Amino acid sequence: MSLAVLKFGGTSVGDAHAMRQTVAVIREAVAQYDHVVVVTSAMGKSADPNDTVKVTDLLLNAARAAAAGDAEAYRRARRALADKHHAAIEALITLPNDRQRISAEVDDLLTGFETLCASVQVLGEVTPRALDTIAGLGERMAARILAGALRSAGLLAEALDATAFIITNDRFQAATPLMEPTREKTRAHLLPLLERGVIPVVTGFIGATQNGIPTTLGRGGSDYSASIIAAALDADIVFNYTDVDGVLTTDPRIVPEARTIETLTAKEVSEMAYFGASVLHPLTIAPLMEKNIPLRVKNTFNPSHPGTLIVYDDAESGGGAIKAVTAIKNVSMITVAGSGMKGVPGIAGRTFMAVARTGTSVFMISQASSEQNICFVVPRQSASAVVEALKQEFENEIANGEIDGVYSFDQASIITVVGAGISETPGVSGRVFSALGAERINVFAIAQGSSECAISLIVAEERCNDAVRALHRLTEPTPA
Ligand code: ADP
Ligand code: ASP
Ligand code: MG
Repeated sequence: MSLAVLKFGGTSVGDAHAMRQTVAVIREAVAQYDHVVVVTSAMGKSADPNDTVKVTDLLLNAARAAAAGDAEAYRRARRALADKHHAAIEALITLPNDRQRISAEVDDLLTGFETLCASVQVLGEVTPRALDTIAGLGERMAARILAGALRSAGLLAEALDATAFIITNDRFQAATPLMEPTREKTRAHLLPLLERGVIPVVTGFIGATQNGIPTTLGRGGSDYSASIIAAALDADIVFNYTDVDGVLTTDPRIVPEARTIETLTAKEVSEMAYFGASVLHPLTIAPLMEKNIPLRVKNTFNPSHPGTLIVYDDAESGGGAIKAVTAIKNVSMITVAGSGMKGVPGIAGRTFMAVARTGTSVFMISQASSEQNICFVVPRQSASAVVEALKQEFENEIANGEIDGVYSFDQASIITVVGAGISETPGVSGRVFSALGAERINVFAIAQGSSECAISLIVAEERCNDAVRALHRLTEPTPA
């Protein structure tokens, strides 16, 4: 018995045209596999220039505007959301009963959205918990419409909210699944449907705590949902359908000639995702790797292209070649500097404890030009809180001159080159620095130790795209 999990991203369900294409891809999979499970994102970008609505962004922005007292924003959002979803229903769902029922369900969810935003407005603040309930509405609408579209196309399908079976902790906005209850409940909900030949169409992105409070797995989390479900069902393969031909050598929005990478190891793709390649949620690989379930990233709009296969055998890597370049913008480089620091025990420990107290996660830690500095990178919006916390922590050391100060360089970006073994391959760093030097791009810091398949550098944000282009020229052409 073969089982495939197919995940469709926002653009794959962005409008009726895209959903038709998605239905065609699912029909192909049904012909090939005994069982198919579909995981969907909320409706995203449409190819129609008149439709610029990305549902999750709109929901979150409206909730934040409500907290700031803006009632018109969420009323406007409701109208835009209603237009987008009802247009898809009209175009795709031909079965009259289904059309009526799904329309009513979408309206109920949108009424829920307005009610929640109204309470947020009254309270004048929006908690992470409320944001999760609101953000997850997009997937709940999309799953109902896609299941309806499949039924109208003559397939057996049923929409399911993953809140009933992806059980998570209560870290709202970035919840972690509890694998044991998730496995048991996912099997209990999905296996009976599969046995009856029904395609479950499951909401990506969302789960719920053991008490049933809705959570989300973080932005881009539908990828992670698909692998959690695949692991729970012991699936044979996961297909991650997006709007480009697989994982590319770099962000095609920066380098339009970026190429598809045929195979990537789990470590390589995890580094890429962590360091800014938005094509996969950084945690997608972990549940699959444990069970050795292969993952293929493919293009809904070019389904005959093989895309990228993620493999778990490190021997299949490129052996020291640079395979990809990624970038994270909007970061700040924080430096704790001082010539007297060497003699003071525990500075590093205290530094990161102080950062942790601000609830900030650190992207990379590095040695700056001087050994006596501690230097690390955080999201830009956290920089001032981090600097404040460090100044307080080291008040005495700053006063007596052991620490010169705590500085933040706010126009920074992280560039990462990825390829298994590169940090141990002689000459790679040299080529990276020469390529940047030739473009007169200054490197503020480098981190090479954390993983053998990535080298990360800090450059000024204004040179970020130039640096990506220069380093992309070092990627090895994949065989045709
Ligand atoms: P989906 O909604 O299908 O999950 P995402 O927007 O999350 O799609 O991710 C796909 C997008 O990621 C692509 O359209 C592309 O612009 C961007 N991207 C950035 N870096 C890469 C990369 N290295 N390979 C492929 N896509 C990338
Ligand atoms: N819709 C969610 C987001 O935009 C999850 C996803 O698309 O993967 O972040
Ligand atoms: Mg995505």
